[in-house]
Amino acid sequence: NPPLLRVEALEKRFETGGGLFSQSRSVRAVDGVSFAIGAGETLGLVGESGCGKTTVGRLVLRLLEPTAGTVEFDGTDLRTLDAERMRAMRRDLQIIFQDPLGALNPRMSVGDLIMEPLVIHRVGDAVAQQKRLGELLELVGLASYHAGRFAHEFSGGQRQRICIARALALNPRFIVCDEAASALDVSIQAQILNLLQDLKQELGLTYLFISHDLGVIRHISDRVMVMYLGKVVETGSKKAIFDTPAHPYTIALLRSAPSRNRGKTRYSAIKGDLPSPSNPPAGCRFHTRCPIARDICKTTPPPLASVAEGEHQAACHFPGAIAA
Ligand code: SF4
Repeated sequence: NPPLLRVEALEKRFETGGGLFSQSRSVRAVDGVSFAIGAGETLGLVGESGCGKTTVGRLVLRLLEPTAGTVEFDGTDLRTLDAERMRAMRRDLQIIFQDPLGALNPRMSVGDLIMEPLVIHRVGDAVAQQKRLGELLELVGLASYHAGRFAHEFSGGQRQRICIARALALNPRFIVCDEAASALDVSIQAQILNLLQDLKQELGLTYLFISHDLGVIRHISDRVMVMYLGKVVETGSKKAIFDTPAHPYTIALLRSAPSRNRGKTRYSAIKGDLPSPSNPPAGCRFHTRCPIARDICKTTPPPLASVAEGEHQAACHFPGAIAA
């Protein structure tokens, strides 16, 4: 089957600085990222903050314009769409953000918030929209009497349910979940992840699930892609990434002990500082923190290459040299 989403050599450069005392620099937030997601699949995208994963999510939805590369959804190159056709395509492509309160207009009732996409896209009349609102509330497990209340009256978990209902309003096929459960306490986080899993089954959804949290990625993903400083360093099935990781960065991520602080998972830092994305190290970008770096690593960027049967790939000159 052809993939539902295909991303090829995606690149995004941002210009920064350029003040009186600094030269402007070009930051390659995303540098040559390619991947595909099959219909009904969840691809987990993991990495530390600043690795470019959030930018990938926005580029895929065309909320940001790529500097180079292509994004194809269901066989259509999104760059070829004019504004009108892109607007129609938007119904299929939705995003759920981390911060439910920031994403919800405080002056609109929950019912109006959830129905707003239907109004904007002129889907159905008022009666049909009310009926759809009832269905959406039920889908996300909220009672219908909540529709007249306002977002600030709800808990974090309920607000995330409101955001999910809103994202589902137009019957999308593909959803980018950007740290969609990260702001929540662990028990609520599990409820939201389970809800997203159930909705995926019930509605035949496809997810790009972005998170810094390996526990979350493990819970929800079918396949996993690991990014470091704008590049994909390893990709494979969930089993390959968690049981037989081949890239020293993935192994370091997995080893960094999670600690739970006020219900949130924090990973202890990997040895060494994250280099500036505006001036990434030459050769392998991980060489400044890699425990097995050799001379070739400082000069020659390692290509993403197969390390085993199936789709397991790593960008390392010595894949598998550290036992996981
Ligand atoms: Fe480490 Fe070299 Fe592999 Fe980079 S290419 S991860 S520096 S061993």
